[in-house]
Amino acid sequence: MTVVKRTEGCYEVQDVEFGKVYRWEPGSVMVECDCGERTTLTRLESVCMRCGTDHTHTVLKILAVQQLEDETLHPWRYAGDREGAGLPC
Ligand SMILES: [Zn+2]
Repeated sequence: MTVVKRTEGCYEVQDVEFGKVYRWEPGSVMVECDCGERTTLTRLESVCMRCGTDHTHTVLKILAVQQLEDETLHPWRYAGDREGAGLPC
């Protein structure tokens, strides 16, 4: 029997040079800037609306990682197979 865990709405928090990044759906990332602004950014819109910090480098890096993970079938969905993995989702 297969148990499928619903993981929609989960996200991982990742510390980056200009603040925090919340990995969200492929193609966009939610970024918490050092200025406190939380905004969803894409590779085309990656500048903080509030302070103007350019997050392009970070966004591209995160999206590249997301793409790798997509290609390996969203590994966090199988976290239950690993005992004590302690993943948030
Ligand atoms: Zn900012």
